[in-house]
Amino acid sequence: MLVVGAGIGGLATALRLAKKGYRVEIIEKNSQAGGRLNQLKTDGFTFDTGPSFFSMSYEFKEFAKDCNIELPFKYVELDPLYTVNFSRSPKTYRLYKDIHKLAEQFKDVEPDFEVKMHKYLKNGKALFNDTVDIEIKENYNSVFSYLLTLMKVNPVHLPILFRNFWQQVCRYFSSDDAREIISLVAFFLGRTPFDTPAVYTLLSYTEFQHDGYYNVEGGMYKIVEGILGELQKENVKITYNTEIVDYVSDGKNLKALVDQNNRRWESDIIVVNSDAASFRGKIFKRPKFTDAKLDKMEWTMGPLTIYIGLKCKLPQVEHHNYYLGDNFKDYANKIFQSTGTIQKPYYYVNVISRNNPDCAPEGCEGLFFVCPVPDLRFKKNWDDKEEIVNSILADFSSRIGKDILPEIISKTIYTPEDWQNQYNLHRGSGLGLSHKMLQIGAYRPQNFDEVYKNVFYVGASTVPGTGLPITMISSKLVVKRIEKLKAK
Ligand SMILES: Cc1cc2nc3c(=O)[nH]c(=O)nc-3n(C[C@H](O)[C@H](O)[C@H](O)COP(=O)(O)OP(=O)(O)OC[C@H]3O[C@@H](n4cnc5c(N)ncnc54)[C@H](O)[C@@H]3O)c2cc1C
Repeated sequence: MLVVGAGIGGLATALRLAKKGYRVEIIEKNSQAGGRLNQLKTDGFTFDTGPSFFSMSYEFKEFAKDCNIELPFKYVELDPLYTVNFSRSPKTYRLYKDIHKLAEQFKDVEPDFEVKMHKYLKNGKALFNDTVDIEIKENYNSVFSYLLTLMKVNPVHLPILFRNFWQQVCRYFSSDDAREIISLVAFFLGRTPFDTPAVYTLLSYTEFQHDGYYNVEGGMYKIVEGILGELQKENVKITYNTEIVDYVSDGKNLKALVDQNNRRWESDIIVVNSDAASFRGKIFKRPKFTDAKLDKMEWTMGPLTIYIGLKCKLPQVEHHNYYLGDNFKDYANKIFQSTGTIQKPYYYVNVISRNNPDCAPEGCEGLFFVCPVPDLRFKKNWDDKEEIVNSILADFSSRIGKDILPEIISKTIYTPEDWQNQYNLHRGSGLGLSHKMLQIGAYRPQNFDEVYKNVFYVGASTVPGTGLPITMISSKLVVKRIEKLKAK
C-alpha cells in the first residue's frame, strides 16, 4: 500500500496498516516527516512550527492500543489552559480548569460567573455526549445515511443549529471579557466565533472538563519521532523529496501516481494524506474541485507564524498566551477578508522553552507566535510581513513591560505563502476546510475516492476534520474503509 504524505494523518494510517500486516510505503514532498506538525532547528533553538498543544488525549491512547504499542511520547496536562490579555486592561486572566478558581478572576466584571459557567458547560456536555460519536466517529456512505443518523440526535439541541458560537455564548454571559474569553476556542477551529456554528461550544466542555489540553515532553515533534520509530520497526520505507504531480489511469482504475521526476508509483491501495479537496482538483483535475470552486468553499485562517529566539528569559510570560485588542467583534469580522496591511493584530504566544528547556540554549527563551490572517485569496501580497511582524513584537513588548527587540538572536517568519508552498495547503489555509455545517460529515470531501475504488484520503480536509486528535480519528476511519474493501 502507498501513503502519499507523511503528515500525522499519513504516518498514523501507515502504522495502523502495517500493524495489520500490510506492506506499506510512504512518499513525502518534503525532506522531513510531520507535515504541519513539524520542527525547525535554527541558531541553537528548536521550534515546533505548527501545533503547540492537543486536546482529546484519549484518541492518542486509543491509537497506541489499536497498534498494540506503548504510546511513543509523553504528554503533560496544561493548567491553566492558557492566559488571556486584553489591551483595555493590565489584568491577565488565567484559564484554570477549576471553575471556582476561574470565577474568582471574573468577580468584578461578571459576579455570577461560576453559576453561569456551570450551566454553559452542562449544555456543552450534553451536546458532546449526544453528537460527537455520531459526527466524528463514523464513516458515512451517503448524505442520506448521514442525515438519517443526525435525525436521531436529541431534538432538544435543534435550536442551536440556528445560532453561531458567539450567540450561544452571549446567552450565558453578559460581560465583554467573559464572552470574548469563552468564545476564543472557536479560533482553534480556524475561524471566528461569529461564523463557527454554536454546536462547537461543546469544545468548551472538552477544554475545561472532559479532558483539557496537553503539551508533549521534549516538544510536539516527539509525536512524529515516536511514530517514525514504530514505522521503522515495521520496515515501512519513507521516500522524501517526492511530490506527486500527476496520475495514470485506465478511466476506472488508478494505475499509478507520477512524481516530479516522472517516476511512477504503483500500488493496490493508495491513501492520500495531501489535502483531500485540493488533491482532487490539482492532481485528479476533478471539475468539482477546480481552483475557482475551491475558492468558493470556506477555508480556515491563513496563519502568520513567527519563531523568535531571545538571549534572555521572560519569567513574566506563561506557557500559552493570547493577546487581544479592544475591538473583538470588528476585528474578527474583518480579519479574514482584509487585503492590505493588518492593523493592531490579535495573536497567540507560546513560550516553547517554558515546559521544554532543551528547546533553547541556556539563559535563552524560544517564542512561537501565531497570528490569524487572511488567506491568499484575500491578502495576496506579503511584502509587508516585516512591518506586520514588527508591530506584533512591539505590541508584545509593551504588554509584557520589556522591549524584546534588542534581545532577538533568531527570527524566522512563515506567511500563508510559505504554508501553502511547503505543504500544498490551498491558498495557505492553515487548518484546511472549515467546519461549517455544509462542510462536515457526509458534506466534507469523503475519505474514499468518487472514481477510483483503490484510492482513499486521510487528514484535516477529509472526515472528520482538523486538529491532531481528529486526524488520528481520520486514520482510524480510513483504515476501516480499506479493510472493508479488502474483505470483499
Ligand atoms: C500554525 C498551526 C498551528 C496549529 N496548532 C494546532 C494545535 O495547537 N493543536 C492541534 O491539534 N492542531 C493544530 N493545528 C492543526 C494541525 O497541525 C493539523 O490539523 C494536522 O497536523 C493536519 O495533519 P494532516 O496529516 O492532515 O496534514 P499535513 O500535516 O498537511 O500532512 C500532509 C503531508 O502531505 C505532504 N504532501 C502534500 N501534497 C503532497 C504531494 N502532492 N505529494 C507528496 N506529499 C504531499 C505534505 O508535505 C505533508 O507532509 C495547527 C496547524 C497550524 C498550521
